[in-house]
Amino acid sequence: MLTDYHVHLRPDGEQTPAGRYFTPANAQRYREAASERGIGELGVSEHIYRFAQALDVWKHPSWRVSARDDLDAYCAFVREQTDLRLGIEADYVGDREDRMASLLDAREWDYVVGSVHFLGDQAVDMRDSEWDIWRSSSPEIVWRRYFETLGEAARTGMFDILAHPDLVKVWGSSAPVPDGDLRRFYELALPGIAESDVAIEVSTAGLHKPVGEIYPARAFLELCLEAGRPVALSSDAHVPEDLGRDYEQAIDWLRELGVTELAVFEGRRRRLEPIG
Ligand SMILES: [Zn+2]
Ligand SMILES: [Zn+2]
Repeated sequence: MLTDYHVHLRPDGEQTPAGRYFTPANAQRYREAASERGIGELGVSEHIYRFAQALDVWKHPSWRVSARDDLDAYCAFVREQTDLRLGIEADYVGDREDRMASLLDAREWDYVVGSVHFLGDQAVDMRDSEWDIWRSSSPEIVWRRYFETLGEAARTGMFDILAHPDLVKVWGSSAPVPDGDLRRFYELALPGIAESDVAIEVSTAGLHKPVGEIYPARAFLELCLEAGRPVALSSDAHVPEDLGRDYEQAIDWLRELGVTELAVFEGRRRRLEPIG
């Protein structure tokens, strides 16, 4: 079994309206690309901040400009007009946990992908925007806060999958990386991860970012595996051509680490299936 769960039906940005992408024909393009690549378990996880209901959780200015679509129409589209699993990529917003939980609990997902993009109102992955955290904080502080927040996100139990778990490295050498052994940061997230039931996403998307590495780093994944966490494999594709991108590399890497099974989700219940 191969999975791709962290998948977007459209590229990010304002020029990609729901009406053009939430169509049976577009879903079919993803299904066909998945079949070609041997991916049997396919789901979609649109960014929550593109839906108007996200503003009930948080009114960040970057969300206000993106929150256009109706979340329930998205759920109905995926359920009624496609054969895809229904997921969502939900941000962990520290002091908005209860509001996000009510928004998520009101809908019947197959799985919820949880992401840490923001630390306070600044983002780790919005370089050269007014929300760019790298402008104002030292790498040591950003990395520390990122992994503390990731552990908190896991501990809430709101998420089935922890997305791109070391996203903070996304910029590679074009954002400063702290010196020395990075395990001192990973260890900040571990208690929350170990006490949770969350699956750890292995994402090939990082290979195509400035960092040029799979998320998460090997040392971080090893710690998560030691803590008994299962692996969820995804590409974070935003176009059908990117589905399952570089999976050969990810699968070889997982085998080296002794991972033989992947998490599979339905109705927010998880089971493990052999990789293949
Ligand atoms: Zn993300
Ligand atoms: Zn994503």
